[in-house]
Amino acid sequence: MRIHLPRTLDEALEIKATDPEAVPLAGGTDLMVLLNFDRLRPAAMLEVSRLPELRAWRWENGTFLLGAGVTYSRIVSSLTEFKPLVEASRTVGSPQIRNRATIGGNLGTASPAGDALPVLAAYDAEVVLIKAGGKTRTLPWHQFLVGPKRNALAPDELILGVRWTVTRGPGSFSKIGTRNAMVIAVAGLCLVMDEGQRQLRVALGSVGPTILRAPDAEAFASKALTGAGAWEDPRAALPPRVLEEFGERVAAAARPIDDVRGTAAYRRHACRVLGRRALAWALEDRKLRG
Ligand SMILES: Cc1cc2nc3c(=O)[nH]c(=O)nc-3n(C[C@H](O)[C@H](O)[C@H](O)COP(=O)(O)OP(=O)(O)OC[C@H]3O[C@@H](n4cnc5c(N)ncnc54)[C@H](O)[C@@H]3O)c2cc1C
Repeated sequence: MRIHLPRTLDEALEIKATDPEAVPLAGGTDLMVLLNFDRLRPAAMLEVSRLPELRAWRWENGTFLLGAGVTYSRIVSSLTEFKPLVEASRTVGSPQIRNRATIGGNLGTASPAGDALPVLAAYDAEVVLIKAGGKTRTLPWHQFLVGPKRNALAPDELILGVRWTVTRGPGSFSKIGTRNAMVIAVAGLCLVMDEGQRQLRVALGSVGPTILRAPDAEAFASKALTGAGAWEDPRAALPPRVLEEFGERVAAAARPIDDVRGTAAYRRHACRVLGRRALAWALEDRKLRG
């Protein structure tokens, strides 16, 4: 096996251009499991976890660019303004896994159970890809995540990072598993309220072939808030059935299957409960903030 150990992003991209079958290795928490079980035996690997350009983040004109090589531990300790992302990061594996595992690895694996992915979908994020010569290509999250464990990365590209517009408003990530920690989600949900655009966005993980948004539920809740005057006045009461109806619509957006982790019926029910709770938390949060 050829092992490449570049020191800069430029060097890594040159290697990717000349040796496109080299598999990028970041934290290795997905990749090394595949190697250990002999499910993958790449001819070449390209170590990217030490590239300073991928380990950085920056704000640019109201958007935030999170480098692919940022670990969940750093997100939890340093990016507290992105509460749903921190909540999702905190649920990934154990402290040891979070110290190594990266957001780029979650995108690279493109599992429907990747915990950061519903958050990126609810943020309406775009994935920034880069190749030799510094040429970048940007894809909305739904064009990057194209199926179960499939993404739109070209062989000569690396994931540079993920970018989203910074919004104002409450939000949360929650997941259901068979226990409280070290668990792959049976269902996961991220809800974000964008006070500026007066929009509510909901994304689901582990309940379809890839990450799903719930556009019907989103439109319903946004309209209910408008109807009640709640965008202007966080204390305005919503009609009593709104939470129930919202949960039903979130559940209807799921496309779950039966598998070892749970049945389709259980997953749909989980979406109903997670959706209802996430909206209730967001409304409560707005009331407290006034
Ligand atoms: C014990 C354990 C528990 C886990 N628990 C969770 C959990 O609770 N939630 C969860 O979501 N995940 C979990 N995972 C899976 C894993 O930790 C995550 O998917 C993590 O985000 C992978 O990141 P990584 O840096 O380790 O990726 P790696 O394993 O290094 O790479 C994963 C894939 O991404 C590609 N890749 C990585 N970086 C780039 C880049 N810059 N450009 C192009 N391709 C790239 C690699 O080539 C590979 O295909 C767990 C794993 C283990 C072993």
